Amino acid sequence: MNYKVTSQIESGVMVITVNNPPINAGSIEVRKGLREAIAELGRNQQAQCAVIIGSGNTFIAGSDIKEFALPLAEPHLPEVIAAIENCPKPVVCAIHGAALGGGFELALACDARIAQDGAVVGLPEVTLGIIPGAGGTQRLPRLIGVEKSIDYICSGARIKAPEALKLGLVSKVVREHLLEEAITLAKSLVGSKSRIRDLVTPKANDADVVVASQKALKAGKNRPNIQKAIEMICNSVSMPIDQALALERATFQDLRVSTEAKALRHQFFAERKLFRTFDADDVKPIELKHIAVIGAGTMGTGIAIACLTAGYEVLLLDQNEAALTNGSNKVRSFYESRLQNGKMSADRVSQILTQFTYSADWKKIHNADLVIEAVFEDIEVKHAVFRKIEEHARQDALLASNTSYLDIDAIASRLENPSRVFGLHFFSPAQVMKLIEIVRCLRSSAVAIATGLQLAKRLGKTPVISANAFGFIGNRIYAAYRRQCEFMLEEGAYPAQIDKALEDYGFAMGPFAVGDMSGLDIAWGMRKSQAATRNPAHRYVTIPDSLCIAGRLGRKTGAGYYRYDANSGERSEDPGVHHIIEEASKAKGIVRRQFSAAEIIDRVLLAMINEIAHLVCEHVVRDATDCDVALVNGYGFPKWQGGPVFVARTLGLEKLNAQMDLLEKQSGPGFHRAELHALFE
Ligand code: NAD
Repeated sequence: MNYKVTSQIESGVMVITVNNPPINAGSIEVRKGLREAIAELGRNQQAQCAVIIGSGNTFIAGSDIKEFALPLAEPHLPEVIAAIENCPKPVVCAIHGAALGGGFELALACDARIAQDGAVVGLPEVTLGIIPGAGGTQRLPRLIGVEKSIDYICSGARIKAPEALKLGLVSKVVREHLLEEAITLAKSLVGSKSRIRDLVTPKANDADVVVASQKALKAGKNRPNIQKAIEMICNSVSMPIDQALALERATFQDLRVSTEAKALRHQFFAERKLFRTFDADDVKPIELKHIAVIGAGTMGTGIAIACLTAGYEVLLLDQNEAALTNGSNKVRSFYESRLQNGKMSADRVSQILTQFTYSADWKKIHNADLVIEAVFEDIEVKHAVFRKIEEHARQDALLASNTSYLDIDAIASRLENPSRVFGLHFFSPAQVMKLIEIVRCLRSSAVAIATGLQLAKRLGKTPVISANAFGFIGNRIYAAYRRQCEFMLEEGAYPAQIDKALEDYGFAMGPFAVGDMSGLDIAWGMRKSQAATRNPAHRYVTIPDSLCIAGRLGRKTGAGYYRYDANSGERSEDPGVHHIIEEASKAKGIVRRQFSAAEIIDRVLLAMINEIAHLVCEHVVRDATDCDVALVNGYGFPKWQGGPVFVARTLGLEKLNAQMDLLEKQSGPGFHRAELHALFE
């Protein structure tokens, strides 16, 4: 046996302990150790049964994802599982923490499972573009049926111990003494085997299976691995188990090396790095309890809800009484609707609401450990508000701005202690959107940033750290993307064609549909304010201005890039818009041409890649891959495509440079070519 798996025999029971911190990942060494331990169990006369348990905080919380990029080394998990099933002595799995993916598949190979309260089990493989590859799609349906297996496997759900007990996935849940209880259970099974593989899958109702499959495909965006997972689960009814297991394994192996799985692993590691790099700095964040949110508008109320739901005490402040009433009503009705639709218990709602206060009185912010400003996007208003905050907040409170574009260093520079100021750029709706940009200003303290990261973690958000630069990370990449789409309008494409190409690629919405939804007037206002300083030699597309001048401000006016049906809200193409676009091309002497969906996607990706390389060279972003995370979590970029940096690295520098040469020509004056090698370092 090796140091990752140890075993010990006491009064007839072999206790096999997995010891691979921090999460006891099912690595090659763990698989080897388990295989040897089970072989020893078979041989050793002293042991009549065994318990497998994890050391530390968890059972095997998943497979070692790093191994997925390489040819898998033997023994493979199915071999270990077969050894457990073929061993004549019973094996009990004792689960605390998490038994996920391969960890749960191993548990399903055992003769019984017992869990500690607080444990979770599940098969989340689909979130990495694969399917369970060691019998999950065959053993789970034998316990809980086909429909429920489709639900759980295709959503990658984590099933809490009480639910696992109800479903029959574990036979007992204990509060304490997990190992002792598992030993007792193992002893009671001596002389018998109860393998899940010997059960038959409960009869499924065809219509219910169809409904479950359709629901899973819709939620899983019809991805190939979801289709395959459903197919494999259905095989559990129609195929002998060994044949179905072999097919499952082969499918898992194919999917594991697919570009989609690589892209999702890229996202997984990029996300994990976000927290890790900062943890390494060894800075202790401040323990936040009370948060004051200034401004009870769209963002302020969303931020208040996000913080309340995460358990903070929240004060919402607005100096406009009507806005304050409106904002606080929004917060209350959010929780009332959670209660009504059964998403939250009455106790939880009332507990959250006791933590919520609102006021127009600045003195009330004195309790706050953190003040988050979300008032109008106007530098003078922000200066005035921060003066007020400085006057009334505690001197050790941290101060954050939710500004989208304003210079936070300029705001901080007028304060006595700029080191406590930083940016917390939430996205709308703030209680829903995963992304949060944490803006590290020139003088922000490391503690402020560490606290921002900890807050993001507790809110369940995905944080990226940005320098204080115009548009930070996401909005800057998005602007380059939208500009490129406008170029294509001028050259021959139409909004619906561009949106469709991008939506087919996987974007939640195309850029013109997004523009119409948020309103075209905000960007118009910004363009007007920048008109005087714009370089007249740079390419400037007038189409959005023409739409605004024509009163087409987007959905709210019933028309923008599209026309919207007054009743259904459905969008449709509008010949009036085509006319405006064609006139714009004519005015510049551009001969319009056809665009393929592939060309549209390529140009969008290249424009994003170029902007990301700028962000890296300008040190706005710490790591290029942070941008991929930002785009997926805040801008509807399809996760399974990995992000622009993943695309760039897959393409390689040479090809990328050649394609960027072309984009530079197509884009014309004003396109600033970045040093692309920065993306490969
Ligand atoms: P909003 O107009 O909906 O709300 C702003 C609120 O601030 C209003 O209720 C107003 O009464 C209040 N306010 C103004 N001056 C104040 C003062 N002196 N003291 C106290 N309260 C004051 O605006 P919003 O959309 O919530 O945007 C707020 C901030 O968040 C802006 O900086 C904006 O750029 C940023 N932001 C907005 C979005 C978005 O999608 N709306 C997304 C990210 C960031």
